[in-house]
Amino acid sequence: MIRRFFIRLNNIVTRCRRRRRVAPERLLLLGPHCLQLHSCDRKVTDDLDQCARCGGCRVSEMLDLCHEYGIRGHLVGGGRRALAKVRQPDVTAVIAVACEKELCEGIMAAFPKPVLAVSNECPNGPCRDTTVDIAAVRAAILELLDPAQSVSSG
Ligand code: SF4
Repeated sequence: MIRRFFIRLNNIVTRCRRRRRVAPERLLLLGPHCLQLHSCDRKVTDDLDQCARCGGCRVSEMLDLCHEYGIRGHLVGGGRRALAKVRQPDVTAVIAVACEKELCEGIMAAFPKPVLAVSNECPNGPCRDTTVDIAAVRAAILELLDPAQSVSSG
């Protein structure tokens, strides 16, 4: 409950008080490795383009969003790797998909960079074949993306 409250509060603050519109190349979409179907052998960590877009998991849709809006996207296997991506100097804002625990830690570690957080869902238990509401991810992208510099009209 506390984590959920913190994430909601962060998103409200990011939307209302710290809101920035950023160029697509400075917006980072981060997701957890557990979004990838566990039986898939594609090396999508760090390179979403390795996804064969079979539709077996949400990675293909995450990749589609990155191409549609021209933003960067990575799947990472842990908090340390996520933080390294977030701290890259040319990253201005982040859309983070993860479990609530990882989101809370990531939001604090990324400060002062704005992070819009989207919780993933774990219908198969923690850290296994997780999923995410792609519409929520798209909405978060659109909230932070500078429409004047977006490659998509959507
Ligand atoms: S969409 Fe298919 S190819 Fe892409 S990561 Fe998921 S299971 Fe692998």
